[in-house]
Amino acid sequence: MSLIVHKYGGTSMGSTERIRNVAKRVAKWARAGHQMVVVPSAMSGETNRLLGLAKELAPERPDTAYYRELDMLAATGEQASSALLAIALQAEGLEAVSYAGWQVPIRTDSAYTKARIDSIDDARVRADLAAGKVVIVTGFQGVDEAGNITTLGRGGSDTSAVAVAAALKADECLIYTDVDGVYTTDPRIVPEARRLHSISFEEMLEMASLGSKVLQIRSVEFAGKYKVPLRVLSSFTPWDIPIEEEARSGTLITFEEDEDMEQAVVSGIAFNRDEAKISVLGVPDKPGIAAQILGAVADANIEVDMIIQNVGKEGRTDFSFTVHRNDYARTMDLLKEKVAPALGAQEVVGDAKICKVSIVGIGMRSHVGVASTMFRSLSEEGINIQMISTSEIKTSVVIDEKYMELAVRALHRAFGLDAE
Ligand code: ADP
Ligand code: ASP
Ligand code: MG
Repeated sequence: MSLIVHKYGGTSMGSTERIRNVAKRVAKWARAGHQMVVVPSAMSGETNRLLGLAKELAPERPDTAYYRELDMLAATGEQASSALLAIALQAEGLEAVSYAGWQVPIRTDSAYTKARIDSIDDARVRADLAAGKVVIVTGFQGVDEAGNITTLGRGGSDTSAVAVAAALKADECLIYTDVDGVYTTDPRIVPEARRLHSISFEEMLEMASLGSKVLQIRSVEFAGKYKVPLRVLSSFTPWDIPIEEEARSGTLITFEEDEDMEQAVVSGIAFNRDEAKISVLGVPDKPGIAAQILGAVADANIEVDMIIQNVGKEGRTDFSFTVHRNDYARTMDLLKEKVAPALGAQEVVGDAKICKVSIVGIGMRSHVGVASTMFRSLSEEGINIQMISTSEIKTSVVIDEKYMELAVRALHRAFGLDAE
């Protein structure tokens, strides 16, 4: 008997028909003798619908009072889908019980809309499992020290599932979604993308942090920290396929580089349209410039990603960086009104229509010329590179958003990732 955590995403929970299908699949695992904990997302579109209602009443404001209510609101999506799944499981003849985050409790900090899990009390869930029940725990949410409901950021149900699996020392955490695994790139953008049988934890971490939304980054971090066996697989296979077959399907996230792993130099391509680029032009070229610009941005609680400072000319230099698109207007205002005048900079310009395209692979450690292959294939497509950043196992470029698909396809081909 194993303790297994299943997570079902929004599309997989998207209708009562699909919820029934999830219940049948979970029942199959429970009847095979496994202790089952299930973490569902809200039904597809529900989180967007709820957040849209809030924005109809008042445009988003970056203040705690507003964000607290967004979490209060958004968390209802998962509460509804969890109860529906419990009802569907009971209809299948199983004993099932659902819990909201605060009932477990899943304790988080108070960073509304992007809270981090601090701890999970496993007592209640364990007692139910021991009593032979299937336990459903809402994805995406938790409760802070003061008893306020919090959410974990978009896509956060992945993190709930992996964290619950870690807390319960589950034998496996299976992430059921609308694709049958992790692909070389988003199969919706590149139809030639191939499914990977396995991907190293480090590569998955990079892919997720660089924009592959198949797993939320924090879920991968949790899996790494607690060595949770993690697999991404399809919820759209027939529910009654044999468990052994199902358990081997999809993509396994591996923690050791094993011999059989596909030995590609580049394993995957990620992209991200959520960033915007800002440049402060004609800044006096003297020590402390980066600290002053980025210090002011950090004080406003705005996260910065890529950073470039150009070589100075005639005592002045240009300084560019990227922020999340949601923070773009706020950052521009801050720089124009406060930072640039204080520094004596000449101009602040920005571009929200950019995207970041990245190649990822542990093979990049031992191969030279990977980045230059990337730059060459982009130039052959006439795509201008605006910013570059590299680390041991990835190279990212910022380009005009309108070339995103072209760039991803060209790189997919250039690194031999297209399916035969
Ligand atoms: P869920 O609702 O199940 O959490 P998500 O929409 O969050 O599903 O994540 C699954 C989606 O991730 C897929 O439909 C696919 O379009 C997208 N995706 C992006 N990059 C990849 C990738 N490398 N491999 C597989 N899917 C990817
Ligand atoms: N329902 C949440 C979202 O749409 C969490 C999740 O689906 O993982 O972001
Ligand atoms: Mg998701």
